[in-house]
Amino acid sequence: MDRPRPVPRSSLQIQQSCKIMNSPIFTGDGPALVIAPHPDDEVLGAGGTIARLADQGRAVHVAIVTRGRPPRFSAEQIHTVREEAAAAHAHLGISQTHWLDFPAAELAEYPHADLNGGLGALVRDLDPTLVLAPHPGDIHLDHQLCFLSTLVASRPHQARHPSVIAAYETLSETNWNAPYLTPAFVPNVFVDISATLDRKLEAFQLFASQVREAPHERSVESLRALATLRGATVHRSAAEGFVLVRYVV
Ligand SMILES: [Zn+2]
Repeated sequence: MDRPRPVPRSSLQIQQSCKIMNSPIFTGDGPALVIAPHPDDEVLGAGGTIARLADQGRAVHVAIVTRGRPPRFSAEQIHTVREEAAAAHAHLGISQTHWLDFPAAELAEYPHADLNGGLGALVRDLDPTLVLAPHPGDIHLDHQLCFLSTLVASRPHQARHPSVIAAYETLSETNWNAPYLTPAFVPNVFVDISATLDRKLEAFQLFASQVREAPHERSVESLRALATLRGATVHRSAAEGFVLVRYVV
């Protein structure tokens, strides 16, 4: 007697993957824009999603908001991280990297209106339908200010504004703020990155100057562990979690 044949795991994964590809939040004709306060935030928080969107044919732009400058950062460090970013972004299939060159670790001392203006101009120029921003509960002030400016740049009364805004989590930033006193990162959007996790980890390793040894949060092992946990939450092998900030249909 014929017994029903078990569905191969790979087919199941493809079905699940297709379901998510058809979900409206992460599909669309317009470009996606990932706001990264510092180089590597975009890989830590959304590298798997970026690779997946790029694989789907979506134009993915990354805005690196700040630039290190002496004496806080040496010229050699600045040069190195730019080279690393170029290699990592190519690996993920990013269409274009926009260096906004605001002062790193000094955004709080900088006129906030200028940051709003810089991000606003980029949003106007690119007209993204999807924007991914750092989480407002991150410990780094640059991250908090970039989140606020992303919302200002994306205000819905403007002729051009993104229909989806979501916040990503950044290991070594999001978990290190004060629990219960600052906004907690509780994801309500999950992107299956089973097919692109390896590329995310490879892209992170291309940021060699930023990689730390486990059990540091900023390690390959920690990134894989988080992807496994976020995936398991929605019965997937690997995922990235996001907090949906706004979704206009
Ligand atoms: Zn950062």
